[in-house]
Amino acid sequence: MWLRCADRSRRGGRWGGRKRGVRAVSGAGGGGGGAAPPAATGAKVTRVTKVPVAVGYGGAVASVDADASAAGIEVLRRGGNAVDAAVATAAALGVTEPYSSGVGGGGYFVYYDAKSRTVHTIDGRETAPLTADSHLFVENGKPLAFADAVTSGLSVGTPGTPATWQTALDEWGTRGLGTVLKPAERIARDGFTVDDTFRSQTADNETRFRYFPDTAKLFLPNGRLPVVGSTFKNPDLARTYEELARKGVGAIYHGDLGRDIVKTVNKPPVAAGSGYDARPGKLSAKDLAHYGAKLQKPTHTTYRGLKVYSIAPSSSGGTTVGEALNILEKTDLSKASEVQYLHHFIEASRIAFADRGRWVGDPAFEDVPTKQLLSQKFADSRACLITDDAVLTSPLAPGDPRHPAACGKGGTAAPTTYEGENTTHLTVADKWGNVVSYTLTIEQTGGSAITVPGRGFLLNNELTDFSFTPANPAVHDPNLPGPGKRPRSSISPTIVLDRYDRPVVALGSPGGATIITTVLQTLTEFLDRHLPLVDAIAAPRASQRNAARTELEPALYNSDLRGKLQAIGHSFSLNPEIGAATGVQRLPDGKWLAAAEKVRRGGGSAMVVDPTP
Ligand code: GLU
Repeated sequence: MWLRCADRSRRGGRWGGRKRGVRAVSGAGGGGGGAAPPAATGAKVTRVTKVPVAVGYGGAVASVDADASAAGIEVLRRGGNAVDAAVATAAALGVTEPYSSGVGGGGYFVYYDAKSRTVHTIDGRETAPLTADSHLFVENGKPLAFADAVTSGLSVGTPGTPATWQTALDEWGTRGLGTVLKPAERIARDGFTVDDTFRSQTADNETRFRYFPDTAKLFLPNGRLPVVGSTFKNPDLARTYEELARKGVGAIYHGDLGRDIVKTVNKPPVAAGSGYDARPGKLSAKDLAHYGAKLQKPTHTTYRGLKVYSIAPSSSGGTTVGEALNILEKTDLSKASEVQYLHHFIEASRIAFADRGRWVGDPAFEDVPTKQLLSQKFADSRACLITDDAVLTSPLAPGDPRHPAACGKGGTAAPTTYEGENTTHLTVADKWGNVVSYTLTIEQTGGSAITVPGRGFLLNNELTDFSFTPANPAVHDPNLPGPGKRPRSSISPTIVLDRYDRPVVALGSPGGATIITTVLQTLTEFLDRHLPLVDAIAAPRASQRNAARTELEPALYNSDLRGKLQAIGHSFSLNPEIGAATGVQRLPDGKWLAAAEKVRRGGGSAMVVDPTP
């Protein structure tokens, strides 16, 4: 079902006014026992404490950022539900994590409704212009250099995030957009404290940010990198949120905000004399008006008696995590040695990625065998390729999910195409038992590097998630660009239910294609290896994506496990950091546990409404 974005603003303000000078409220409790901001009283508070785990009642929020988690908690505290709080948290992340998310991007929203005990999803992926064809990134007969495509108008898809927020609130929320945007608007206006991650992400982008004066003016205040500990304000974004609150998301899909986006994409405002050739895009008012966030069925598979729900194509997340889980189900991972656990996890990932590359693209354009990819019969036909003492060769050929053949390979192998690695994931639960698992992105850290002048947000470069040319010239690539098509994603917001359809755990991560392996590894560390959720998230990661080498984080790369796995035949490369997961776990009697990263990306922020032990 497609929802057109109507201008359905429900003006907010149910809990009224912002007091100037009041930032997101303070977190209590620096210890592991939990953190919750007190109700906004008007007292001036400047710091929000960041802890990776919190336990308590009244609902929970986990995100990468303390101000953003506090925004969600504020909404829960005032009686909003998990959907309201998720949108509030996402909007706040648009302020404090502007290089990973924002109204210039897209994402995938997964919602568990406690009353009906059912899971629903929204595909809010960016779309290619209606004029795009398979040669979108081909110039003079050759694929464009990836970096040139990233920093260009050409890679900007129609943003899906505003439509996702409005659709989620319309379908399942209890508050209007204006109301849930309030905390984020306040943070944008009054500022947040610059941390190391924000500064280093700015530094990584400094060169290309300087190509665009509006981006440099915003993110390099006074021409310099933001100083750690200083207050960063974004009054333009505060005004954008205020306009969305007043006019609704129609301001983007049919109005003046949209006109500014189109103008910027089609004529990127490059600094005179920079010499940078920012390829123009071909976005039109028609593209924006045509955009619809898509309500669709989740993917579903069972794993050791539990029900695993995630996002269906256009993301490959649900089918690939699901297929790998089905493959792993053959092995008792709870009893396996650490070496055999990692070996099976790596090989299941390799196989699932081989199948993802061949079969998954936007189902509005491609015949995607979603059901068959998730069938146990297909997984069994692939699982029998794995042995305890040998390693499969990548690129591994895909199987044919429509005609599973024992230990079958149904075609020629193709390498996994490159995807940028950045975005952000948030997980929310409320006191009624509703849960949201939501991953949103502008693709690369810093997206296209193009800020919409005067509007305070970066535009995405999501269209670089398309294959520029066929990954395997011998077979059809389902991920070539097309008119209005969604590029294949790896985003995998997941919710696991027990046999009574009650939540067990919900989680997700950023990380481009490594999202899939991070979600798979965290799930198995938690469900099979029985690590506490926060430790399952913190566990050192491996990522195999049908490549010759498996990436390892330093703690694994430098451990004796590497040698033991090499003895079976594995090859490795070092990846300094993979993913940045968050999750929530349902505990008995209405209690929730929120968990985030202990170290990655400077640590995440877990909060509950009421941390009473
Ligand atoms: N563009 C990526 C995807 O949709 C997400 C970016 C990321 O997480 O890093 O799969």
